[in-house]
Amino acid sequence: MPRLTDEEIARMKELDGKATAGPWYPGHLSDPSIKCDCPYVFDENHMGSVCEVSVENERGEGWNDSPKREEAEANQLFIAFARSFVPRALADLEELRNGMDRIDALAQSSVKHDETLRAIIRILRDA
Ligand SMILES: [Zn+2]
Repeated sequence: MPRLTDEEIARMKELDGKATAGPWYPGHLSDPSIKCDCPYVFDENHMGSVCEVSVENERGEGWNDSPKREEAEANQLFIAFARSFVPRALADLEELRNGMDRIDALAQSSVKHDETLRAIIRILRDA
């Protein structure tokens, strides 16, 4: 899988900044302890939800090619979890890339390289 481009990361940060703040919570569809099948994903402030997942009606009728229930439950959990995961992943990614840039700059410098640093540089160049 190709690495994320700087443009993709900047776009995700922009979208993250504009979307409804987290955390988000999955509705009852994906909670086996609750009989309700509400397909919503909620945040703290919008009781009407920020979105809902589509579920196949399982009646064999036409015009319903939505995901089957198990997949819809996974979609609900994914969307709710991603809201908190994405900004933290972006921060981690930024920190890692900054670290790689610093190591790469060090590798390009005239600093005498010891074996550990040489190994790190080889790993980064092969990545
Ligand atoms: Zn419900």
